[in-house]
Amino acid sequence: VLQAVVVLVTIDGVRWQEIANGTDSNRARPLGLPVSTAEALTPNLHALLRRGAAILGPTAECPGIAASGPGFLSLPGYAEIITGRSDTGCHDNTCAGLRHRTLLDDFAQREGASQGDVAMLTSWPDLQRLVRSDSENIDVSAGRHAGATRAAFLRAPAERALLDQGARREPFPGHGDYRPDSATARLALLHIATRRPAFTWLGLGDPDEYAHRNDYAGYLTSLKHADDVIGAVTSLLDDMVRAGHRTALFVTADHGRADNFKDHGPEFAESGRVWLVAAGTEIPSRGLAACDNLLHLADIAPTIRVIASLDGAPGPTAGKPIAAFEDRPAPDPLVNDHAITARVGTPSRRIW
Ligand SMILES: [Zn+2]
Repeated sequence: VLQAVVVLVTIDGVRWQEIANGTDSNRARPLGLPVSTAEALTPNLHALLRRGAAILGPTAECPGIAASGPGFLSLPGYAEIITGRSDTGCHDNTCAGLRHRTLLDDFAQREGASQGDVAMLTSWPDLQRLVRSDSENIDVSAGRHAGATRAAFLRAPAERALLDQGARREPFPGHGDYRPDSATARLALLHIATRRPAFTWLGLGDPDEYAHRNDYAGYLTSLKHADDVIGAVTSLLDDMVRAGHRTALFVTADHGRADNFKDHGPEFAESGRVWLVAAGTEIPSRGLAACDNLLHLADIAPTIRVIASLDGAPGPTAGKPIAAFEDRPAPDPLVNDHAITARVGTPSRRIW
């Protein structure tokens, strides 16, 4: 049996409202923008949802998923996702150095791991600060020039060309050393296809940049681009399934948005709410999933650790694997049918 291939895609600051309900007509109509259903706005994400499992907005079956906060800022959200803990010590976007193991560490240090098994490609350069400085076997390209192991992407000529192209781009819609999502995604897709890492973290960021500019049209366009990237990642993983791999793709966001759309952060409690979609051979087909209590970003890493048979990081502030995203064998169809109904409510219910 070949190893499980796990891909985590984060899309900075995409709020659950567009994912669950589609275009915000109150914002789109005054701008002359078309109003789309959620399925039309992000078709690839919704195709994943139908194949796998998802937590979107609050429903009768599940209160939803949120960042633990209280910051509702980017780096704390990513720190929570990648460690699987709510107490990362990262409280704002200036934090550096995590005290706890990350998923990147777990994949890179597991038995039999080799160079190239773990990759992290992000548009926002600051995300490199979540990687241990001594992590030589985690291939990182963050922003246009950051990443202590950036040279790993210089070996193959085709990757080197895309890395160099990305470095020459203007940072817009970001600032400083930010790399636009199209450049980050092209390199990531090539890297996943050719190197087939056991774990890849692809961090997109354009939607948050447009939202901070209060540019709703730009936000929607960059969200559609992110959805195209999800479709491309899905195709790559489907190819790997045909080659005998087990797969899992997780897609989420580091925080949501304030009611005013433009902002997020500690002043805006509503900006803590996020969303999660996952699919692959290791994820059950449940559609919109049920849950007993509000889930947190800290629960994503423990779920991935179960799928990839990683040791995990126990402790009172560690998250818990999300039951609705765990695939459990079905010894008896009737018993299983009853059990699923009891645990997850109505698995096929749609909200669009
Ligand atoms: Zn963010």
